[in-house]
Amino acid sequence: MPEHACDPADPAALAIIGGGAAGVIAALHALALAPAGARIVLVEAAGELGAGVAYAGDRPEHLLNVVAGRMSAFPERPNDFVAYLLEQDPVGTATAADLANRFVPRPSYRRYLQARLTAARAASPARLEVHRGRAIALRHGGATLSIELESGARLRATGAILAPGNRPRPLPGTRDPDVPPARLVEAWDEAALAGIPEEAAVLVVGAGLSMVDVALGLDARGHRGPLHVLARHALLPLPHTDRGHQGDGIDASALVGRPLRAVVRGLRGLAGEAVRQGRPWQDVLDAVRPHVQSIWRGFEDADRRRFLRHARRHWDIHRHRIAAPAQALIARDLAGGRLRLHRGRLRHLTRIDGGVRAEAEGCGGPFALDVTHVVNATGIAADLRDTADPLLAQLLADGMVQPDPLGLGLATDLDGRPLDARGRAAPNLRLLGSLRIGTLWESTAVPDLRMQAADAARALLVPR
Ligand SMILES: Cc1cc2nc3c(=O)[nH]c(=O)nc-3n(C[C@H](O)[C@H](O)[C@H](O)COP(=O)(O)OP(=O)(O)OC[C@H]3O[C@@H](n4cnc5c(N)ncnc54)[C@H](O)[C@@H]3O)c2cc1C
Repeated sequence: MPEHACDPADPAALAIIGGGAAGVIAALHALALAPAGARIVLVEAAGELGAGVAYAGDRPEHLLNVVAGRMSAFPERPNDFVAYLLEQDPVGTATAADLANRFVPRPSYRRYLQARLTAARAASPARLEVHRGRAIALRHGGATLSIELESGARLRATGAILAPGNRPRPLPGTRDPDVPPARLVEAWDEAALAGIPEEAAVLVVGAGLSMVDVALGLDARGHRGPLHVLARHALLPLPHTDRGHQGDGIDASALVGRPLRAVVRGLRGLAGEAVRQGRPWQDVLDAVRPHVQSIWRGFEDADRRRFLRHARRHWDIHRHRIAAPAQALIARDLAGGRLRLHRGRLRHLTRIDGGVRAEAEGCGGPFALDVTHVVNATGIAADLRDTADPLLAQLLADGMVQPDPLGLGLATDLDGRPLDARGRAAPNLRLLGSLRIGTLWESTAVPDLRMQAADAARALLVPR
């Protein structure tokens, strides 16, 4: 793909910042909508296009946590990902219906997006330029936007979609300065995880989906040492059923516009009813899923805060489930004593001979775990108020955006336009993905991203 050191005189019709799944899906929609000769630029800082954190690795044991039938990049062609899987294995035994309900390995999703991008570029009358480099600033310049890359290159565009995605949350607590950095590993750093010796005692901080990835990855590489998992609530993600999406016939629309207490009661009622009918409780979550954004938007601020304080973790383990085979492996490790779950907060790390001592505070008082490596699996940093990300820090400092009041990404309107420091929506900017969770709550999975990407491309490219 070409590298561009400078921008031609005419501004691009659209700049997309971030080439993870959201940015690539936005590019697919932009290529389908842009007029002949229009120029679209896609700026990606680091990885392969369509990879981001979620789809970057090559571990076959890391499965999508959404069934293939719901992962199409195109809202109007919901079976497109399944069609791609069939194209890859034309003589395979799986039917489209089988595949639609399957949790396939995550790397296949990156390859799907890349294949569709190649085809869209060939078919479009518009031109897509891919710039490798990190955008570090974006400013209004008359009727256009000016984007500065870390390399010093500048781009101009009439409109921009910001899709910078997920940033890992830093490891909580404090640490002595002599704790060797090589002993502290990020959950998404495949190379560092691969360097952990088979017999090493490992502490994973966090018990969510990233912890599951780490545990499965270590298992698959033959790791046999003790695996301690430390988390504030010590709640593990629950499994999907192996029947795929089955919310049909359950009406959860009455939960919209209700206060938190009534929503919790309503969910329990629906789950009880489902179980009485011989259906799994998971069906209720599938039925509620299309209403979650409306339910969240209907909450008063006080209820949103209450939810974050008291209900979030319980919601997360029911909503962000893992494929049944992954759950079976975790259950086996727990039952066999290799995986040990500790409830508590990480307070401090100290260097010890051969590793690290992690001091934690549990409900029964302080305790310590001596390990060789500590893995940070605390998930995604939603609070951007003191972000180290240069682009987001500049946008905040210049008042072009403002943080969400609850610390959940940025403040936006319902169309994904960021609100500036004075509360005005920027007409030529759109945000995608996790930056919008304060407004939408559900805003990181592909079924949401593809809608946002299609809407943003249309709003910025198609004259009204
Ligand atoms: C481990 C994991 C597994 C997941 N599994 C699923 C799943 O199975 N199904 C599902 O629907 N969702 C899943 N998700 C949710 C996931 O958030 C989305 O599906 C999707 O990956 C988000 O894409 P994104 O493009 O918004 O963010 P990211 O994937 O984080 O990509 C953002 C991209 O932007 C680039 N970037 C950031 N800042 C800049 C900048 N300033 N300049 C240039 N480039 C920049 C980054 O390098 C990165 O490539 C998963 C998430 C995680 C973390």
